[in-house]
Amino acid sequence: PSAMREISIEVPKVYWQDIGGQDEIKQKLKEAVEWPLKHPEAFARFNIRPPKGLLLYGPPGCSKTLMAKALATEAGLNFLAVKGPELFSKWVGESEKAVRDLFKKARAASPSIVFFDEIDALAVRRGGDDSSVADRVLSQLLADMDGIEPLVDVTVVAATNRPDIIDSALLRPGRIDRILYVAPPDRASRLQIFRIQVKRIACSGDVDLEMLADMTEGFSGAECVSICQEAGLRAMEEDVNAKEVSHRHFEQAAKAVTRQITKEMIAFYD
Ligand code: ATP
Repeated sequence: PSAMREISIEVPKVYWQDIGGQDEIKQKLKEAVEWPLKHPEAFARFNIRPPKGLLLYGPPGCSKTLMAKALATEAGLNFLAVKGPELFSKWVGESEKAVRDLFKKARAASPSIVFFDEIDALAVRRGGDDSSVADRVLSQLLADMDGIEPLVDVTVVAATNRPDIIDSALLRPGRIDRILYVAPPDRASRLQIFRIQVKRIACSGDVDLEMLADMTEGFSGAECVSICQEAGLRAMEEDVNAKEVSHRHFEQAAKAVTRQITKEMIAFYD
């Protein structure tokens, strides 16, 4: 399949307020993408060059994809998403063309965001069996990035759990030169994630979100969301006609979640 036809363009519907907490990273992203669009004169006055590309790195399930989507939604930008490994698997023999097509499409839809999830896949392949393919894909990506005008045009947002293996050529000034750590949610962020979730859940009065936030130190955002799903199921298991989810269901669900983020991982990112 041609990437030109396959990759869909959308304006996502993820707003900043749908993402619990993570205020610092939200602020940095607004400054990088919304400010230059809204205040071009100020950027000119201070000779600030808006970034062409941003890298979001951090442990899994902590809102990198949500952040990229919210950037597009809130700034009214078209959004094109591709996963790094797809470039090799989905368009075998046509990986470079897929990259070219992607940028062609992104420019035609500008102003737009191209989101590369799992960007590290480009690096992992280098030096491997089909390293020549990976080299060519990377070269094509660099060439396309060098050709874009910041913001008037296309902003590249890349995400990874493995910032250490990204080819440094990608991270040079004028390419992906804003590098932001998306940390696991702190207590305040977790509380906010639970607040957002329970708005859509019939809950009993005893549900104590503060306590849940305390219990979930080190959990990812995705795990906090899954606790809420699991809690509802537990209420139903007890009584399929249950009208509300109680605190004990949340607590049981929180205890049952297998945590994905380890201490070693956090030390690695720090
Ligand atoms: P990966 O590295 O695994 O791709 P990611 O960092 O891109 O993960 P997302 O895909 O953005 O993570 O988040 C996964 C899911 O977790 C979201 O769809 C959402 O349901 C939930 N989630 C994570 N963080 C938050 C948050 N801060 N507020 C609300 N929901 C969140």
